[in-house]
Amino acid sequence: MEALGAERIASGLSQLGLRGKRVVVHSSLRSFGHVEGGAETVISALQSVCRTVLMPGFQCAANNVLPPPEQRPQQNGCDYAIHFNLRQPPEPFDVEKAPIHPQMGSISQTFARSTGVYRSDHPWHSWLAWGEDAPDYARDHPWESANQPLERLAAAGGWVVLLGVTLVSCTTIHVAEERAGRRPFIRWALDRQGRVRVVRVCGCGKGFDQLYPYCQTLFRETWIGSARILAAPLAELIERLTPVIREHPNIIRCSDTCLRCQDAALGGPIGKPVLEQLPK
Ligand SMILES: [Zn+2]
Repeated sequence: MEALGAERIASGLSQLGLRGKRVVVHSSLRSFGHVEGGAETVISALQSVCRTVLMPGFQCAANNVLPPPEQRPQQNGCDYAIHFNLRQPPEPFDVEKAPIHPQMGSISQTFARSTGVYRSDHPWHSWLAWGEDAPDYARDHPWESANQPLERLAAAGGWVVLLGVTLVSCTTIHVAEERAGRRPFIRWALDRQGRVRVVRVCGCGKGFDQLYPYCQTLFRETWIGSARILAAPLAELIERLTPVIREHPNIIRCSDTCLRCQDAALGGPIGKPVLEQLPK
């Protein structure tokens, strides 16, 4: 297959009606086949078409702190005996130094190093933002709210764009889970002063493809090279999926054995996180 250039990618994005739009992008570079210039070419195509671009800069779990037993809520999507690294004391979280999880893909990782990209300060769900109002999407990201930058984008009429990935990668569905009444899981990280702080985190998204029949009509679709490209308006997607998740709590369970999916379907953690009450 012929190598793809920025122009071909940009014209595919334009066909979907994304010119001048604010978008959040989840991506797989490999899905395109051969892209001349790699991740940077995809990024410059996005920047030539869209007004604002967000991508996940998630780190996930690297700074996980285990609090004392009386502060650990039940139904919290984890086994306290095995899911925390007790041998190595975690480092205080510093967004300037935090790597991006390889699962976010090389387009997100390259985007993080690009000129004019801002990164929000959240130890698990950090977001990257470029373009109009980018600093506004990245600033003041509370650790107790995993997806606040994404919710701002939804409120501003933003779209989600899936470049060669499926709903499994679509973080917006976690926003619908919260609207459906699920409490996000609680984890803990050290801030720069070395204090333990509560972090709210998303659950498991491995079963999200099971929602596609319920929201298919919101998605526009095209192909760029060998990549299937999907785009949908965020606010409508959240609105469409919230009642589906509320009425069918088990619909997005990825398996019978996934603890996160099980606890999320039951409503999430029980009990108040004690550390949230400590004076800052
Ligand atoms: Zn799961």
